[in-house]
Amino acid sequence: MAVSASMPMQCVRVVKSATCGRSLVFTSEFARGHCILEDLPYAYTLHDNKKGLFCDFCLKQCSTLKKCTRCNYVSYCNKSCQQEDWARCHKQDCKTLKRLHPMPYPYLVQLHYHIFQKQRRSPPCTQDDEDCFPTIIDHLESHHDKLSDTRRDEFETLLIVLKHIYNWAGDVLPEPSSLLKIFGATLCNGFSIMDDDLIGIADGIYLRASMLNHSCDPNCVVVFDGRKLQLRAIKDVREGEECTISYVDVSEPAKERQAELKERYHFTCKCVKCIEEINSLGPDDDLDKELRSRLKKTWEQIEVEVESHNILCRH
Ligand SMILES: [Zn+2]
Ligand SMILES: [Zn+2]
Ligand SMILES: [Zn+2]
Ligand SMILES: [Zn+2]
Repeated sequence: MAVSASMPMQCVRVVKSATCGRSLVFTSEFARGHCILEDLPYAYTLHDNKKGLFCDFCLKQCSTLKKCTRCNYVSYCNKSCQQEDWARCHKQDCKTLKRLHPMPYPYLVQLHYHIFQKQRRSPPCTQDDEDCFPTIIDHLESHHDKLSDTRRDEFETLLIVLKHIYNWAGDVLPEPSSLLKIFGATLCNGFSIMDDDLIGIADGIYLRASMLNHSCDPNCVVVFDGRKLQLRAIKDVREGEECTISYVDVSEPAKERQAELKERYHFTCKCVKCIEEINSLGPDDDLDKELRSRLKKTWEQIEVEVESHNILCRH
């Protein structure tokens, strides 16, 4: 298909669906392997156990990282990454991190702190067009009223740490109710950012990619190039078809997928795969195992396909 070099084609558009909020549909047909969408994070934080191995800004692996000499906690590949991260969040974090050294607060606290700070800086947006990509975090689904007791406890703990951080910074803590909304939004919209070996190295929020709905038999997958998210088709897709990814490991049995989807994303998946699989589940445990290995095989095939298309289709 003809795509002008100067104006990149929008491969997906936002539509409002009656049942599950907003979703993305393809604007044309695309062959599998095609890069459908690229997105940069709204906010992200490198995992605590990856500090010193990956750059805190670009999230690339690097053997010659240099530590911030003030806090001695974050590290960067070069001056440019350091400067960009200073503007992004580290200007606010550095002092608090230094104060806490060598016991810094966990990355999830940092991530929430970044989001709250960023939310406060963003101009208020009264317009939330249901058929547009979101521009601020307030536009994302939150489901904060459906949080489990465990998640509520997590939030209470987070709140205690945040109170200290705001105190040290000489700042006023935002309303706990608005913090809870963000906590909920981060939980059900967060992406695990993975390295080349598909190991999680950071958590991030991607506003555009968060419009993607779930399927246990998705037509797309998300891959990462440092902090940049890429959405790639793993099937040939048609114009108007809904663009989907899997929120959970599809090699897990349906019962486990359902439990995770309910707890973290607050919905029941009614896809063909779930229904067929659950209907076929007998009391016999061997059946479960057999199914599991069959699903795992499918997933491995998908991964192999994505691998080969990554090589074939680079933009
Ligand atoms: Zn392509
Ligand atoms: Zn870097
Ligand atoms: Zn620092
Ligand atoms: Zn399903």
